[in-house]
Amino acid sequence: MPAILPNVMEPAPSPIEDVEKKFVSHAPGFWEGEDIPAETWADYKWQLKNRINSLADLEKHITLSEEERSGVILSGNKLAMSITPHFFNLIEKDNPNCPIRRQIIPRVEETWIADYEMSDPCGEDSHMPVPGLVHRYPDRVLFLVTDRCASYCRYCTRSRVVSGAGEQTLDMDHEAAFKYLEEHTEVRDVLLSGGDPLLLSDGKLEKILSRLRAIPHIEFLRIGSRIPLFLPQRITPELCQMLQKYHPLFLSVHANHPRELTMEVKEGLERLSNHGIPLGNQSVLIKGVNDDLDIMRSLVHKLLMCRVRPYYLYQMDLIEGSAHLQVPVAKGIEIIEGLRGHTSGYAIPQYVIDAPGGGGKVPINPDYMVQRNEERVIVRNYEGKTYEYPEPAIDLVDEDEIAVK
Ligand code: SF4
Repeated sequence: MPAILPNVMEPAPSPIEDVEKKFVSHAPGFWEGEDIPAETWADYKWQLKNRINSLADLEKHITLSEEERSGVILSGNKLAMSITPHFFNLIEKDNPNCPIRRQIIPRVEETWIADYEMSDPCGEDSHMPVPGLVHRYPDRVLFLVTDRCASYCRYCTRSRVVSGAGEQTLDMDHEAAFKYLEEHTEVRDVLLSGGDPLLLSDGKLEKILSRLRAIPHIEFLRIGSRIPLFLPQRITPELCQMLQKYHPLFLSVHANHPRELTMEVKEGLERLSNHGIPLGNQSVLIKGVNDDLDIMRSLVHKLLMCRVRPYYLYQMDLIEGSAHLQVPVAKGIEIIEGLRGHTSGYAIPQYVIDAPGGGGKVPINPDYMVQRNEERVIVRNYEGKTYEYPEPAIDLVDEDEIAVK
């Protein structure tokens, strides 16, 4: 029987403000008055050193709700809290339902675990032939290269191993991973993730990329990173110049709300694009953050303005303590239906469920096919109008007769 969870308040997503449709800088924000020189603010090492990672740090700047206060106290031994000053500045000071707060400030609901929730919802641990390398699909692998991130997302599917706060650690053996990849000639696509690979120094990251590029059958490299949003200062010209040596190299970023696309983020993303790195975005559908058509439309439009193609919209994995952030699948379908036909096709991500237990990504789509038989298909368009498409007449020529002649 599923656990009975306490009644969780259902926040309405914050209304979309006009300012969120624009690219603005929020600096120095909460650090106003501390006289931080612009070049210091723009230094990613300063940003990392000055992250918000304690209750006292938080309460210095914002008023916490009871749920947040208890969350910070109780959930710290599961997934650490750490927030870069850049990202912290996106927070609405007096709104406990602020969509940025919900992503990165722990809430007490994280300590409530439902029966159907899992610590490893995608079954990664059981698909690792060597530590840190997940081989689930035939021709591609997920290579976990670090367990640290610039900030920590409260719904992280890998919260069991990232941040170093929990009991389980991320075992990695890079040499064993390279050896496995050299031997497995069927692997043509490697996705670097973690943790956040862009948190590694340029030198460490280059060592990994150059080793992978030396393996002849690996055609395609990808990096999954939320650093362009959490810490755009890390997207330095030097990093971009190093990355461009390893093409074809794609980068998947992770933005959930239009406010995250600030002026600094736009500039960082443009730097990556200008070095020939194709960019995609993977959003997670989150209650009170982006479970709203207007917000999602604004997000995908701003992404295109930053030359980022919305790639996936994920139904949230069933990670332990995430019930308060989960959105019904019907809402995800409704959002996709609200985009399809109403805006550019390039703006519409593929909605997916990562099948619990390790079944891989399954596309979820609104049902546009009304009827289908051998002779025809009836489809409906974005306005709800139906159209008939005749199936090609495949029996017009008898192929046996042709063969005899
Ligand atoms: S950045 Fe990615 S790996 Fe890191 S906490 Fe967020 S979702 Fe998890």
